[in-house]
Order: sequence, then C-alpha cells, then structure tokens
Amino acid sequence: MSNIPHVVILGGGFGGLAAANEIRNSLDSSKVKITIIDKKDWFMVGYAKLWIMNGTRTFENSIGSLNELPKKQINFIKDEIIEIDPKNNFVKTKSENILFDFLIICMGAVLVPEKIPGLVKNGFNLYDHNQLNEINEKLNKIESGKIAIAIMGMPYKCPPAPFEASLLVDSMLRNRGIRDSIQIDFYSPAPMTLPAAGPEVSKQILDLVNSEKIIFHNSQKIKHVESKKLVFENDEFDFDILLAIPPHIAPKVIYDCNLAKSPGFIPIDRDCKTPFENIFAVGDITSLQVTDTIAVPKAGIFAEGEGITVAKNIISKLELKEKVILFDGKGGCFLESGRDTASILEVDMFTNQKPSTKLTESTKNNLSKKLDFEKERLSKWL
Ligand SMILES: Cc1cc2nc3c(=O)[nH]c(=O)nc-3n(C[C@H](O)[C@H](O)[C@H](O)COP(=O)(O)OP(=O)(O)OC[C@H]3O[C@@H](n4cnc5c(N)ncnc54)[C@H](O)[C@@H]3O)c2cc1C
Repeated sequence: MSNIPHVVILGGGFGGLAAANEIRNSLDSSKVKITIIDKKDWFMVGYAKLWIMNGTRTFENSIGSLNELPKKQINFIKDEIIEIDPKNNFVKTKSENILFDFLIICMGAVLVPEKIPGLVKNGFNLYDHNQLNEINEKLNKIESGKIAIAIMGMPYKCPPAPFEASLLVDSMLRNRGIRDSIQIDFYSPAPMTLPAAGPEVSKQILDLVNSEKIIFHNSQKIKHVESKKLVFENDEFDFDILLAIPPHIAPKVIYDCNLAKSPGFIPIDRDCKTPFENIFAVGDITSLQVTDTIAVPKAGIFAEGEGITVAKNIISKLELKEKVILFDGKGGCFLESGRDTASILEVDMFTNQKPSTKLTESTKNNLSKKLDFEKERLSKWL
C-alpha cells in the first residue's frame, strides 16, 4: 500500500477538470494521486451545444477526450458511480470500490424531462446533446408557424443560455429569409428574464430579445405539454417546435447518501465543504445561497472557480499550511446575441453580500473571446 494521499474526483466536467489540473500543476504524482471518475469519456463546453443546434458545429468537433488525462498523471476511470460512502471514505462504481483521502463531488445536475407530463413525447430537450441534430433539422425545415423555448424548472444550468438559443434561432430563420413567417415565444416561470442578475440586467436582456421580435412570457409555470400545446397554470399556448429546458435535480447517489434532500442540491458555503471531513462539492450539484432568494447560478465558470478553490485548499492541507481560501463568486458569462455577436455578463456574486452584475455591449470581438474561452479550456485541461 502506498502512503500517497488519494484525491478522487467524481465527474470530469468543468469543476472536476479545473480541480484536477490545479492540484496536478502544483504537486507531482509522488505527492498526490488524482483519479477522475466519469461515466462518459468526453468533455464539452456547455455552450457548444447551441452551435450544434444552429448547425455551425458537429458533436465530434466540440469535445475533448478524458482519455488524455493519464498523460498528466491524472488517472481516469470510465464508469458509473453508484454509491458514495462518506463515513468510510469510499465510492463504488459498477465495477470497483475506490478509497479516497479527499473527495471532490462534481457530478453536475441531472435533467428530468419525464417530470413534466407529455414533454418527452411532444417536445425537445434543448440541453440534451443527443437531440441537437434533430432540432437542427427541424429548424432548417420549418417554413411558418411558432417556435417555443420554455424553461420548465428553476434553477437550471446557465441562466442566459435559453435566451442565447432564442437569439440564435432568430438568426437562423433570418438567414433563411423566413423570419417574418415564424413567431418565437419564450416562456419562463420567473417574473423577469434573469432574476439572479437583477432587474436592470433583466431589462437589458428583455430589450435585446424584444428587439428581435422574440416574445417573452414571464411567470408561466408549466403544468403539462400536449401535442403542439403548452399548458401552464394560468394559460395555454400553441407551438410547432418546442425547445424545452427541463427541471434539474441532483444525481440519485447524492440523495441515497443524504448529502442533499430530493429534489434539491448539496448545500455548501464558500469553502465548498460538506459536513464530512475532506469531502467537498462544487458546481451544478451544489446550492450556494448568496441571499435568501438568490443562489450562485449553475454555470461552468462558477464550477471552475469552486473547483480551483477546493484544489487550492487541498494543496494547502497536503503542504501542512493552515490557509483556507473561499470561492470569490466572480466570473464572466458570454451571452451570444445573434447576428454573430456576443456580450459578456460580468458577475460578482458576493459584493456587499449581494450579486452585482453588468452586461457589456454586443460585439463580434466578444464572440471571438467566447471561442477562445472554449479552446483554452480544452487545451489546458486535456
Ligand atoms: C446550452 C448550454 C450553454 C451553457 N453555456 C454556458 C456558458 O456560456 N458559461 C458557463 O459558465 N456555463 C455554461 N453552461 C453551464 C455549464 O455547462 C455547467 O454549469 C457546467 O458544465 C457545470 O460543471 P460541473 O462540473 O458542475 O458539471 P458537469 O460539467 O455537468 O460535469 C458533471 C460530470 O459528472 C458526470 N457524472 C454525473 N453522474 C455520474 C455518475 N453517476 N457516474 C459517473 N459520472 C457521472 C457527468 O457525465 C459529467 O461529465 C451551459 C450549459 C448548457 C447546457
């Protein structure tokens, strides 16, 4: 048995890859063993999904392989995690038990379209990479009618992403010369476009979508979906194509080991600790409240920041240093605005105990920065 401490990372997404690389860049394999477990062997920056949707990308051209990790002395196990035993420091996959000294849980959120009656049969899940090619085909074929984009549960990943999707769909239809024949409706259960960003930024996003004649329907809480019909608590609307953002929950293993209460997420503070010594949680699987009503949004940039925070604290502990740092809650999210432009939503979640947000101008240069952000993550992590 080796005495080298073992950091096990559950999930090779934004949080997991950021944490693993941060630790490995500071400590070599004689000081710490690192293992990432993921049921799939690829990583994709979330927003590339919208480029598959609009046909400017393929799935194959948008992924990096987790099988590259061993080149950096980061072990990779492709397997499904089926149990976490936080009291006895082991996790179980379908084929083995793995002991850990430190555990970072970053398994993301699970999308549950089946929670909304009729959705699976009558609509698309915009966030499911398996459905994007078919969505693209439908968007390329439609000649007239109504396209609905509907948020069906809060919180959901990347709050601006559905708005970006609506603007990209608008651009696609305009490029095909048929925009005037198609109505785009956007439905949200929230009273404003981006509640976590506050009323001012929400108004800017509303103005942006309205400027492209996208109709925003606020406070629409979904009941069920019928063929070509959305039924909300107080209203009904027709559609021809439905792009839905289904409700999100945590993976079942998290509820099984009582790290969160179904259907919620793992509650954390800015140190990303769980109640168990040396077990941390980061990213979409967590809920980090900023105020009574606002939590840190589910976004890659925050999963990355939390992963780096935990990594630095593990490094400190391994180097027998006392220093503990806290997640700073800062990040920039690109908001693709159609017409080959993007703006940047600059976020500071903890300024004066409340979020401060600013939306920059939409420019072509910001869209290039968005492409660079993806390239940089793929090349530095894999
Ligand atoms: C359309 C779209 C656009 C987006 N745009 C942006 C953006 O512009 N900016 C931004 O910051 N964020 C964006 N996001 C959000 C971002 O992708 C997520 O917030 C981010 O991926 C969360 O990182 P994570 O590490 O918490 O989880 P993930 O990246 O989801 O990683 C979780 C990993 O855990 C694995 N896993 C889960 N359960 C198991 C199990 N039982 N066994 C084994 N493996 C398991 C999964 O396979 C997955 O690889 C976007 C998301 C979408 C869908």
